[in-house]
Amino acid sequence: MNINIDVLQAYLHERYGGWTNEQGLFLKLVEELGEVAEVINMRAGSKRAKDMDLAHELGVELADMIHYIVAIAAINDLDLTAIMLEKDKKASAKYHHDINLEAFIAKREQN
Ligand SMILES: [Mg+2]
Repeated sequence: MNINIDVLQAYLHERYGGWTNEQGLFLKLVEELGEVAEVINMRAGSKRAKDMDLAHELGVELADMIHYIVAIAAINDLDLTAIMLEKDKKASAKYHHDINLEAFIAKREQN
């Protein structure tokens, strides 16, 4: 199953819309960022890992970050998909990339 950003945004809008604010979600995002840092430190050996699958743990904490990032966009009714495509298009042009995200998606959909 693929997760579509628009659907994730609609789901998180239902979950958080109307009762929470971006400051609360942002603080949760920062907390999750700290958890990503902790796992990365464990992977680098600079912090002790207690019998954990660190690759899986990294995925879990990154998923938590994505959750709060998309939730902040959702409660602000931002069209994150359109913004990401626009931003990538500008960056791809600026840094002379061979292909941008929109073209990449279109190419994949042809195959
Ligand atoms: Mg977490």
